Amino acid sequence: MAEETQSKAPEAGAAPAPAQSGPGAGPRGGGRPAAGGPGGRGKFFRRKKVCKFCTEKIDAISYRDARLLQGFVAERGKIVPRRLTGVCTTHQRRLTRAIKQARNIALLPFATRH
Ligand SMILES: [Zn+2]
Repeated sequence: MAEETQSKAPEAGAAPAPAQSGPGAGPRGGGRPAAGGPGGRGKFFRRKKVCKFCTEKIDAISYRDARLLQGFVAERGKIVPRRLTGVCTTHQRRLTRAIKQARNIALLPFATRH
């Protein structure tokens, strides 16, 4: 098996969240939506509530695909709940496993022989 593990420290500053300007961020104070009611939850970006893996027909989630996994891990390394990601239960489980495996690899030194 070819090892392609990237020895990345988990505490290293990951890329910050995407700074997406929401709607109504224009400088011109034109039509301002009346959004002053209670319970105004900040929905920065809404994702499709469809499992990405089902959509792309990805069956096995590889722990080596760090790029993919990072999309489902918060900045602190927490696994994002599927509520937010929209991943289905089956894939969330596989995803969780993959992330944990990836973590292990990143955390443990590659060679620990004496
Ligand atoms: Zn799925």
